[in-house]
Amino acid sequence: MSSVSMRVARWLTNQWRGASALTLPQQSLHRPPPLSRPLSSRAGVSYPLQLSSVSESHASLYEESLKHPEQFWGDLASRRLRWTKKFDQVMDCDMRNGQFKWFLGGSLNVSENCVDRHAEEDPDRVAIIWERDEPGDTQFITYSQLLESTSRIANVLKREGVKKGDIVAIYMPASPLLAATMLACARIGAIHSVVFAGFSAEALKSRILDASASVVVTADEAVRGGKTIPLKSIVDEAVGGCQCVQRVLVSQRTGAHVPMTPRDLQLEQAMSEVSDSCAPEPLDSEDPLFMLYTSGSTGKPKGILHTQAGYLLYASITQQYVFDYRPGDVYACVADIGWITGHSYVVYGPLCNGATTVLFESIPTYPDPGRYWEMVERLGVRQFYGAPTALRLLLKAGDHHVHKYDRSSLATLGCVGEPLNDEAWVWYHSVVGEGRCTVVDTWWQTETGGISIAPRPSPDDSTPKPGFPMRPFFGIQPVLVDDQGNELHGPNVSGNLCIRHPWPGMARSIYGDHGRFMDTYYRPYPGLYFSGDGARRDGEGHYQITGRVDDVINVKGHRIGTAELESCLDHDPRVAETAVVGFPHDIHGEGIYGYVILKDGVCESDEEVIKGLRNIVRMQIGGFAVPEILMIVPGLPKTRSGKIMRRILRKIAADRHDELGDVSTLADPSVVEKIVQGHTKRN
Ligand code: ATP
Ligand code: MG
Repeated sequence: MSSVSMRVARWLTNQWRGASALTLPQQSLHRPPPLSRPLSSRAGVSYPLQLSSVSESHASLYEESLKHPEQFWGDLASRRLRWTKKFDQVMDCDMRNGQFKWFLGGSLNVSENCVDRHAEEDPDRVAIIWERDEPGDTQFITYSQLLESTSRIANVLKREGVKKGDIVAIYMPASPLLAATMLACARIGAIHSVVFAGFSAEALKSRILDASASVVVTADEAVRGGKTIPLKSIVDEAVGGCQCVQRVLVSQRTGAHVPMTPRDLQLEQAMSEVSDSCAPEPLDSEDPLFMLYTSGSTGKPKGILHTQAGYLLYASITQQYVFDYRPGDVYACVADIGWITGHSYVVYGPLCNGATTVLFESIPTYPDPGRYWEMVERLGVRQFYGAPTALRLLLKAGDHHVHKYDRSSLATLGCVGEPLNDEAWVWYHSVVGEGRCTVVDTWWQTETGGISIAPRPSPDDSTPKPGFPMRPFFGIQPVLVDDQGNELHGPNVSGNLCIRHPWPGMARSIYGDHGRFMDTYYRPYPGLYFSGDGARRDGEGHYQITGRVDDVINVKGHRIGTAELESCLDHDPRVAETAVVGFPHDIHGEGIYGYVILKDGVCESDEEVIKGLRNIVRMQIGGFAVPEILMIVPGLPKTRSGKIMRRILRKIAADRHDELGDVSTLADPSVVEKIVQGHTKRN
C-alpha cells in the first residue's frame, strides 16, 4: 500500500471513532423505517463521522489530492467502486486540449454500483422515499425493489432495440420510475438525457433533436403543487417533428386517459412482460453515462456530457463528505432530477453510497410555505439540500411556517444554484437550523459533475461564513485570474474563477460540439478550466462567488459583482428579492439598474423604499455603487430551475426589448412583459 493509500485508509478508519456517540434521528415513519439495521451492525463501514476530529489530516489530504492525484483518486476508486475489471491507469488528462480520461482500462456498471451491491447486502433498506405531491402521500422503495424495476426497464429498452451508445430522452415526473429509467439506461450502456418535465414542447423538441434520441420515456401526466401537467400530450407535440424518435414509453402517474399511437407503449405493461433480471453490462470507465443541458441562464443551453467511473466516484464522495452523510440518515435533496443537482445528489451520489434518498415531487409552497419543514419532521430528515431561490421565497412568507414543525433531526443545511445572499444565509442558519446546523453553501456546475467548493469537509477551527462556499473540495485548486489571464495571488483578490487540475467528475465534452466546449471552458485561459463565474478570495483564503463574469458591472472603473449588490439590497427587511444588472452609460461606462421585489404587506410608497435602498448601498458599499435606477417589479424572469435570467434584464435596461433572444427556458414569460411595461412607463 502506498503512503497515500495508508493515509486515506487511516483517515477513513478514524471517522469511526466516536461511533457510540452517534444517535439516529427520530423516525416517525408510518411504513418501514428507512434503515432498520441496528447501529452496531454498521460498524466497520468506511463512512466519516466527524471530519472536524481529523482537521490536520484533512488539510494534508487536500495537499495530497493536488500533489499526487493518481494515488489519491486511484485509491478511492478502488476502495469505493465495484469494478468488473480493475483500471490500469488512473488518469490521462490534457487541460490544454480538453481531453480527459480517468480510470483507463477499467470497466464497471454504474447501476450495479448504485443498486445491486446494496440490494445484495441489505435488500430491505429503503433506497428512495418518494414524497409525492400531497404531503404524507409517501412511498418507500427498497433497494431490492429498485433493482427489480431497473432491470425490467432495462429489458424493455433492450426489447425495443435500444443499444449501447443510443440516447434515451427522459421527460418524466420526479418519481422512482424516473430514477429507475436512468439506472436502466446505465445498466445497458444507453446514454440518458433527462429533460426537466416543466419544459415546453418546443424546448423538449430542440433537446430531442440535438441528441437524436431514438426513444422518449414519459408519463401520462405530472403532478406539482396540486396541478397536473399533460406530459404525454406535450411529448406528442414535441416528437411530431422528430424523425429520430422510434418509440415513446408512457408510464402512469395519474392514470389519466391519454391517446396512444402505434409509436407508443405503456411502460408498466411492458415491464410486466419482461424478465425481472438483467445482467449489468460492463462498460468502459469513459463510456458516456449521460448528457444534460445546463440551465440556460446565459444563452443556448449546452448538452454537457459525463462519463461513467469518474463522475460516479466524484458524486458519491462529495455526497458523503460535504453533507456529512452517515449510514442510517434520511437525506433529502429537493432539487428536480431534471437538473445536475438531481442527477448527482438525488440519484447517483446517494445511491452509490447506499443511502436513503428523498425524492420530492412537489413545490416548496404546496400546500403552504411550511411544506419542506413538515416533511423534515415527518421523515426525520438529517441533511437538507435546496436552492437559494426557494429559501428567499420562504423567508418572505414568514417564520411561523418554519416554527410550526420540529426540525431537531436536521444537522446539515445545503444550498446551490445561485449566490446565497447574507439575509437568506442567516435565516437558513438561525430560523430553519436553530443556530445548530451547519449551512453548506456549495458552488459547482453541470460541468463540474459534483460539488467543487463547499465549507465541508472542514477543519475544526472554521465556522461557515455567510455567503461563502469557502474551501475547495479534494482535487480542486481554484485559481483567480484577471481578464488577461494573469494569476492573482494572495488574499483579498477578486477575479475570474478557474480550476487548475483535472478532477474525476469534470465534464468530458458538449455533446456533438467539442469546439464549443473548448471555446467556453479551455480556450479563454489556456491550461485552466474557466468556470464563467467570478470569485473573491478573502484574508483567510476562503472563496466567495461574486456572480457570473458576464454580470460584473464596471462603473467609473470600479468592478462591482452583482451578488454583492443584491445581497446588500436584500438586507432591507421590506425587500424579498432583487436582481441587479448594468446598462450602457454615456458618462460612467456602465450604470447600475436594480429590479426589486417587495415582501407582501409593505405599506411604504415605492419612492420611500427606493430612497431607503439607495442609502443602504451608500452606507454598506459606497456612493459609486448606488444604482442609478431602482424599479419595483412584481416578479423576475427566471429559468425553470429558478435562476434569475439577467441577460433579459440587461436587454430591458438597455432599451433593447426587441432583442430578448431565446426565452424558451423561462418559467413564466409573462413577467417579462410586465417589467418591460414598468420600464417603458418610467422612461
Ligand atoms: P448556463 O450555463 O446554461 O448559463 P447555468 O450556469 O445556470 O446555465 P448550472 O450548471 O445549473 O447552469 O448552474 C451553475 C451555475 O450556478 C454556476 O456557474 C454559478 O453561476 C451558479 N451557482 C451554483 N452554485 C452557486 C453558489 N453556491 N453560489 C453562487 N453561484 C452558484
Ligand atoms: Mg453555466
